[in-house]
Amino acid sequence: MRDFSGDHRWLSINTATVRFSQGRAVSLDAILDAYAKRGIRAISPWRDQVAAAGLTAISRQVRALGFELSGYCRGGMFPAADEAGRQAADDDNRRAVDEACELGAACLVLVVGGLPGALEGHAAHKDIGLSRRQVEDGIGRLLEYARSAGMPLAIEPLHPMYAADRACINTMEQALDVCDALDPESTGALGVACDVYHVWWDPKLEAQIARAGQQRLLAFHVCDWLTPTRDLLNDRGMMGDGVIDIPRIRGWVEGQGFAGYSEVEIFSTGNWWKRDIAETLDTCIARHKSAV
Ligand code: ZN
Repeated sequence: MRDFSGDHRWLSINTATVRFSQGRAVSLDAILDAYAKRGIRAISPWRDQVAAAGLTAISRQVRALGFELSGYCRGGMFPAADEAGRQAADDDNRRAVDEACELGAACLVLVVGGLPGALEGHAAHKDIGLSRRQVEDGIGRLLEYARSAGMPLAIEPLHPMYAADRACINTMEQALDVCDALDPESTGALGVACDVYHVWWDPKLEAQIARAGQQRLLAFHVCDWLTPTRDLLNDRGMMGDGVIDIPRIRGWVEGQGFAGYSEVEIFSTGNWWKRDIAETLDTCIARHKSAV
């Protein structure tokens, strides 16, 4: 396992982590400048942040500052209540692939979606099995496009508390079943994003990471699980402040040959988003060395 204690060469910071500074929104170009000042070499931006700053401008800035993208957030949301919805999701996902290519991302992260309409509070039905079939079909369609563009797709299993509204793929095992069905040769075009926040509790985690192997382990996301957790979405903890044994999981992932970035992804309305961006970034660097 790599030694992270001496530097932050392998630190990536998902730009949602510093979406806000002292409660105020920070533009993506300002975020990138703050990263560059601290020698942070890799980022993983969100589509809405890129759209707000302009894809061309951000792409230029990424190249000028020499950043790598450990991933691009995000595609997915495949289940739809009707054909028009399915088509809209497909179109949007192909655009996400194009943007990821323009930015030179290592992979496009997929948050696959749950019951259509549930995110808006009005689920169209209760058939999660149907949603799961639509997810697999949707990834299958997108995979052809992404493969021709040379952009790997990383399915991110989300914690089961998001099964209804954000992702009906909830374990590494489920994600890998989809990978095996759609990419049986394990070509590298389809894999998983292993986010410790979502999968740390899974009794099969170590075995499924071994099953994934280097070829399917496309991204590694870190933050911590706080006790108590006060908000289902936006109360993620800084590494070291919660109950996840992050080094143990990183050891399993790197044991398979994963040698990419460790990406910090924290959504925190009540704590980190209230602090100054400088403090949040400096803490990410320190905890990357001591708690990851
Ligand atoms: Zn993640």
